[in-house]
Amino acid sequence: MKRKIYKYCAVIGVDGMGNYNRLADTPNIDRIFANGATTYFALSMDPTISAENWGAMLLGASPVVHGLTNGWISQNEYSNKALPSVFTRIRRAFPEAYLTSVVNWDPINYGIVEHDAGVDLQTAENDEKLQPKILERIAKKPTFLFVQYDDVDGAGHGGGYGSERHLRQIETADRYIGELYAAYEKAGILQDTLFIVLADHGGIRNGHGGYTEEEKYIFFGVAGQNVQHAEIPHAVTVDIAALVLYGLGLEVPAYDPDGFSSQVPERIFPEYTVPYRVVIPEPRNVTRRETPAPDGENGLFSFFGREKLSLAMFFDNDFADAAGRCAFKEFNTVKFYSNGVNGACAEMGLTGFLSTEDLSDYGKGSFTVALWVNVDRSINEDCVVCGNRDWWWRSRNANGFTFVLKNNDTVMSLGCPEDHDDFITPLPEEVESGWVHVITAVDKEKKELRVYTDFAFTRAMPVAQNLLADNSAPRFFIGNDAGMENNTKEFPNIFKLDDLLLFNYAFTEKDARKLGRYYAER
Ligand SMILES: [Zn+2]
Repeated sequence: MKRKIYKYCAVIGVDGMGNYNRLADTPNIDRIFANGATTYFALSMDPTISAENWGAMLLGASPVVHGLTNGWISQNEYSNKALPSVFTRIRRAFPEAYLTSVVNWDPINYGIVEHDAGVDLQTAENDEKLQPKILERIAKKPTFLFVQYDDVDGAGHGGGYGSERHLRQIETADRYIGELYAAYEKAGILQDTLFIVLADHGGIRNGHGGYTEEEKYIFFGVAGQNVQHAEIPHAVTVDIAALVLYGLGLEVPAYDPDGFSSQVPERIFPEYTVPYRVVIPEPRNVTRRETPAPDGENGLFSFFGREKLSLAMFFDNDFADAAGRCAFKEFNTVKFYSNGVNGACAEMGLTGFLSTEDLSDYGKGSFTVALWVNVDRSINEDCVVCGNRDWWWRSRNANGFTFVLKNNDTVMSLGCPEDHDDFITPLPEEVESGWVHVITAVDKEKKELRVYTDFAFTRAMPVAQNLLADNSAPRFFIGNDAGMENNTKEFPNIFKLDDLLLFNYAFTEKDARKLGRYYAER
């Protein structure tokens, strides 16, 4: 059988859909792929996170190879010449082709698609506003169209994956997909189009990032004139790049686990006979335990009495304070991921942060901030993790603190209206990525600040008397500073946080080790 070369290819990605479309009413997807090649059991790559999987699709390489994370692609333009995206590969073959990437989640266009590949990069604040932009571009007959709808993932994070809200949003995405398909028909190019719909990952409860069935299985559908009506036996998000190149008549690079590892899945094209190498993505993360019930035998309150804690945030798919004191207000969207230290963790910064007025008493007397932070190469500077004071000089008008990540350092900035001091502690040199536990104790009796990294004493520094005044800031923030101007477009930081514990006294080494014992089972 002769190879059909498509003049056009469309990849329509539905973020966070997993294979939940099987539970929703999706007449358009059903109709478009009725005679196509499909599976509800294609695989997302580990970790089941957006940047890792959109990167895998567009670069044709595994997350370990491309190294992209949500934080990184928000801050850095894509620049790895050794691993060009599918856009650049198409551009080399077709210098005059019209290529376009229309995405709701802008970091894809910022940090995955090259800016020198002549791609029409478009974004919008939601899927509804994205839709007319996509339809306009289909009328221009793009050789390659890439679309990412994001609101399904938002509905999963907000209302739960598989919830009514999530399923209804999948039905909205299905309507959009029907409109796109009709636009190809209207443009008169449907016969020459390879049309692909898939998700980047699924989700469980209010998050994703782990490798459960709910998170790893995705819908993967391919339709086109020469596509077989078949069940695809095995496919992974990373295979999109090879599929697109093959569809457009280009050469598919040889399989290389350390480079381009994208393959054309079997049974899609009748003439394609290159054997598919089944590589089941191995989850890198060890089995994680759930957060022990704080009142239970191994719970936090059996190590430290509840009265010692001003705040105990576990970020297990909600913003509950286990100490029972604080209610938080969410700004934008704080997303949960299932691969926290214990249970789930929260992604903060550019995309969302929290604030409470219930901690205005915190910092009267000595205090200790203890937290797990996920350090990745994306944290360059001025990433405010939490605190009650402004990070910027122009508005540092209260007694209080901001805890900041800066390059490979942690910074505890203590301040009063006329003065401040930044207490900088480098993270251990061996820490390049992953979870680090940091304890910062402000001991107002001893007039010193002590830092414990991964539960071991790191350093102590003297603190001037004027920086030890009682807190006078009305609100406490997580994921931003009190000016609410950090982790914005200027410093587009995204970071993951787990277990933020605020103690109302200054930790000693003994306390740090005790907290280490609480986490020792992880
Ligand atoms: Zn995603």
